[in-house]
Amino acid sequence: MLELSTPVQYVKGVGPRIAEILAGKGIHTVGDLLYYLPFRYEDRLNPRGIAELRPGEMATVIGEVRNSGLFRTRRMPIFQLTVGQGRTRLRCLWFNATYLQDKFKPGQMIALYGKVEEDQRSRELQIVQPQFELLGDAFESGDNGAAEKKAAQSLEIGRIVPIYESIGQGRLTPRWFRRVIRTALDNLTPELPEPIPGVVRGRLGLISPRAALWNVHWPEPGESLQDLQSSRTPAHIRLIFDELFFVELGLELKRRQQKAQTGIAFRLDDKVRAAIKRILPFHPTAAQKRVLREIAADMEKPYPMRRLLQGDVGSGKTIVGFEAAIIAIENGCQVALMAPTEILAQQHYFSARRILENAGYRIVLLTGSLEADRKREIRRHIAQGNAQLVIGTHALLEEKVEFARLGLVIVDEQHRFGVMQRLKLMKKSGGSAEEAHAETSVETGASPVQPSAARRTPPPASPPEPDVLVMTATPIPRTLALTLYGDLDLSVLDELPPGRTPIVTKCVADDQSPKVWDFVRKQVAAGHQAYVVYPVISENEENEVKAAVKMYRELSGYVFADLKVGLLHGRLGADLKDQVMRMFQKGELQILVATTVIEVGVDVPNATVMVIEHAERFGLAQLHQLRGRIGRGAAKSYCVLMTGGKITEEGQRRLDAMVKTNDGFQIAELDLELRGPGEFFGTRQAGMPSFRVANLIRDAQLLEAAKREAAAVLAGPNSEISSEEISRALVHMRALWQHTYGLVEVG
Ligand code: ADP
Ligand code: MG
Repeated sequence: MLELSTPVQYVKGVGPRIAEILAGKGIHTVGDLLYYLPFRYEDRLNPRGIAELRPGEMATVIGEVRNSGLFRTRRMPIFQLTVGQGRTRLRCLWFNATYLQDKFKPGQMIALYGKVEEDQRSRELQIVQPQFELLGDAFESGDNGAAEKKAAQSLEIGRIVPIYESIGQGRLTPRWFRRVIRTALDNLTPELPEPIPGVVRGRLGLISPRAALWNVHWPEPGESLQDLQSSRTPAHIRLIFDELFFVELGLELKRRQQKAQTGIAFRLDDKVRAAIKRILPFHPTAAQKRVLREIAADMEKPYPMRRLLQGDVGSGKTIVGFEAAIIAIENGCQVALMAPTEILAQQHYFSARRILENAGYRIVLLTGSLEADRKREIRRHIAQGNAQLVIGTHALLEEKVEFARLGLVIVDEQHRFGVMQRLKLMKKSGGSAEEAHAETSVETGASPVQPSAARRTPPPASPPEPDVLVMTATPIPRTLALTLYGDLDLSVLDELPPGRTPIVTKCVADDQSPKVWDFVRKQVAAGHQAYVVYPVISENEENEVKAAVKMYRELSGYVFADLKVGLLHGRLGADLKDQVMRMFQKGELQILVATTVIEVGVDVPNATVMVIEHAERFGLAQLHQLRGRIGRGAAKSYCVLMTGGKITEEGQRRLDAMVKTNDGFQIAELDLELRGPGEFFGTRQAGMPSFRVANLIRDAQLLEAAKREAAAVLAGPNSEISSEEISRALVHMRALWQHTYGLVEVG
């Protein structure tokens, strides 16, 4: 008997060499094999009669090979095959398909699948480039008996047939998968574990795992073909729900564990409120007020806050972060504010000084590029509790910064931080004292007289966890937020500060650049500033792409010789970067030529134009972030997407989306659709489970249900759910998180 965990070689028909091919696709066990689902199904129980085919439909046709041959046209060789059913015939064509030349013999049975078309001249129906499978020769090379041949045939015709993606350069064909998966199912142990509690199964009407695995590969005769193709049969739903449920269960457990930890219950009294009012440079929007209320309510609770603040670029997250910081500081705690880049950290530092320093708060900036002496001094300020707000890059975590009393960590992640970094950060910020303690005891154990160990004083027993607020500019589609950030509470800033006029976006070819430069010049003459953005820094990186350095020379030397033009890119030294940024901020530069270093967080409200050259080369999220640098003041802003060279179809869709909408959520949804969830966030590296059967776009509703049910299960045991069921689910979840998703940090 095979278990789901049995290595796949033990399935009949899989030898070591094939096992290797399978392993390349992540198929190691019988379970992995059974989760290799058909990507579509063919109805070969009721195949279409050729006479009843209609142009435009997708159809499965089974017929007999009549004749075939290759003919050459001026442009390419075309292979033609004629298939018959009695007296009716259907023509099939494949372009450039010399390889098909000797494949077919008259009299063979063949199954075809493809789109029916009408030939323009002859008005006859045909199928161009159909997928096909010769029937009945499954074992022609073996010495199998007639009975086995018949059994094999019964997997090919007279039923709904699963079609699998071939792998191993076509060596493992759909037919091969059918046979081997069938064998695996035939020999599968009857006792598959049932990890989902009964009440949940009842509520969702879930069938058993065994039935699901069978039916997803070998649908019952009456099954709806449409449900099969859209993964909506009971079998699909069971498998998809399983996958989503155990991800959500892990996230929910994390969330509960966090809530069980000791945090700091900040007090929010009139004094604190007055302190917040004092620093506000403008009236907060209704959304900012609501979000602050949500954050403040969390901070007052005795367990640590874990909140994600999501707001499109320019929605005004910074001030909300500062308000939260004041609550912590007024309660005698320190605050760490971390940004993904040094430029952004600096920028936060300037705003913090502008907004907070007059009120008497003590702020420090700690970045990697500071001199060692200066760093040491700042660290001392932090350790002694003098510094109340510490701003830095996430290098703050790596360098051993000790806080006197860290109460709140704010992570301005924009869209650069991955989930994994976030997890690490929380551990560090939360467990830093504990970790320091552990280190101390190890050192002491190794050598009791080691001076570094002796100098350290042991931390107080179980220090409270600081609150964590993650701010992100990436509008995250709800489905992704549920998985990526399922362990966080969510606040959304869904309103822009008043007085903004929507940005006008145009897309033009770069032979129009003289007009574009004229336009830039007019805006500058009106007292505004402009960004000109390039995808690469210097020419030799990629020859044909205009590079920032070269174009800086051209723009500053010729096109805008009479204007003040600056250059900013990632390879400049930190001091220089800082200086350029500051000059642009103060209006001493009118035009800033830059790479995507400015993509994140830069805030110069007087800049009203952004020209992005080679816009077709940027990702959608990136374009949206870049555009977010303008439209920050009251004046009307313009984004010009210049394109050079070939644009792919997907590239064109990105550009169209940018022209059509300023709404970050719409853009994020489209981006998710174009790139798929795995790419969307670089989630693979970021530690996001990559799903085997679930699809976050298609299965959004099941995901919601999974989240709801996971919470219900962990709220038990109760009359509906026994503690035994809960522990069974948890054991299963941990095994999955560790083995399949490669995430260890749960429970
Ligand atoms: P982001 O959410 O992208 O970080 P910022 O916090 O940088 O946005 O805010 C964008 C700009 O809007 C800043 O110049 C900020 O001072 C301004 N701003 C934020 N909130 C308001 C408000 N309620 N009224 C007016 N201006 C605001
Ligand atoms: Mg910001």
